[in-house]
Amino acid sequence: MELRNLGCTEITVSELCFGALPMGPLQANLTVEEGGKLIREALESGINFIDTAQMYQTYNHIAHGLKGFSGDVVVATKSAAHDYQGMENAVQEALKVLNRDVIDIFHLHAARVTPNVFKEREGALKCLLDYKDKGYIRAIGISTHNIKVVEKAAEIQEIDIVYPIINKTGRGILEGTVEDMLAAIEKCDIAGKGLYAMKVLAGGNLIGELLEAIKFGRNIKGMDSISIGMIRKEELELNLKIFNNESITEDMLPKVISTKKLFILERFCKKCGKCIKACPNGAMELGEISVKVNHDICLLCGYCYPVCPEFAIRMV
Ligand code: SF4
Ligand code: SF4
Repeated sequence: MELRNLGCTEITVSELCFGALPMGPLQANLTVEEGGKLIREALESGINFIDTAQMYQTYNHIAHGLKGFSGDVVVATKSAAHDYQGMENAVQEALKVLNRDVIDIFHLHAARVTPNVFKEREGALKCLLDYKDKGYIRAIGISTHNIKVVEKAAEIQEIDIVYPIINKTGRGILEGTVEDMLAAIEKCDIAGKGLYAMKVLAGGNLIGELLEAIKFGRNIKGMDSISIGMIRKEELELNLKIFNNESITEDMLPKVISTKKLFILERFCKKCGKCIKACPNGAMELGEISVKVNHDICLLCGYCYPVCPEFAIRMV
């Protein structure tokens, strides 16, 4: 697996990043042992980069996978905390539960925000800077769906890493087209930011064109790594073959094709609107009987499940 420097940082990562969102309770809900085993297999196969978040609830899975592993591993996490105290709690939780002395990359988790995020969450950013100064964080980043935020991040010296959503269909991108996002990514690259790609498979929606979708991500100028969520050994093996530039046989592909869809149990939905607020992609709106999902833009991220007090949201 090719290793690359993340922008101007001294952090070296594998071209394939292990996305830990899908194994957690927001999606597949693997046990800590099952998830940890898959992560360990990934590490032993040459992946050295894991992406997670406070809200994914996969720190225990990662800690289990890392236990006793002697190689260098880069862990990126993120928090949606708005102020200093919230972010401090998030950093301390990550250090403790991941059982790490240092978090390699800590992002502002900022999917659906405007460029004002740097002002609105300056307390949270200040906390990350303080923890970086104290040696508990190696690099500070931002993860976002918004092109304008990616453009703004290129100008902000304190931001070392940018984690933008990008895929060949533009699904999930806010404030412009695929081409606009590519231009914003190039701006970050020129500014020396480390870059890795989020949702090149559009949350699984592009699984039927997996090879083309991954090729698109790998060909983006300045993109140091690609994060792909994995929950099965077959997926790991296929992704390893792709990123190691090995030949793929047709029989490997169908095993990873899934037809997951989000749906709402109408009779349980109380139309409280909490899921609408939580959706980073504007894929939900109030309908006559219940909330409705726009399947053309839903990224299957699962951010909406935990906020539903009625357990009305399911992915099957
Ligand atoms: S509807 Fe739910 S699963 Fe779909 S994009 Fe929004 S939060 Fe994610
Ligand atoms: S959070 Fe649950 S109850 Fe509230 S609108 Fe969404 S689906 Fe309905």
